[in-house]
Amino acid sequence: MGSFQPMLHPPVDELLPLHALGALETADHDAVERHLESCGKCGQEYAAWRETAACLAVAAPVAIPTAALRGRVLAAAARQGRLTPWPPLHIRGEGVAKPGVR
Ligand SMILES: [Zn+2]
Repeated sequence: MGSFQPMLHPPVDELLPLHALGALETADHDAVERHLESCGKCGQEYAAWRETAACLAVAAPVAIPTAALRGRVLAAAARQGRLTPWPPLHIRGEGVAKPGVR
């Protein structure tokens, strides 16, 4: 092991959004984690970015593929042997679980 040089505050705060998305390379990930152990300011900022990242997952509009696109994707997956059970396609008005209707 060489001498350990902790990552300083200025570069770390710019990496926090990527860290919240899990998009950092291992070396940067580890350096940011070490910095977060001792920097409350970055810890608070990181918590906020994590909340934002979590919201992104549900913020994107649901895109329903056309039947043709769905067929091409499934056919390509089947050709590659990567076909796994597909969840039922939820299309409004077709009787499968409708969002907001209970
Ligand atoms: Zn910091």
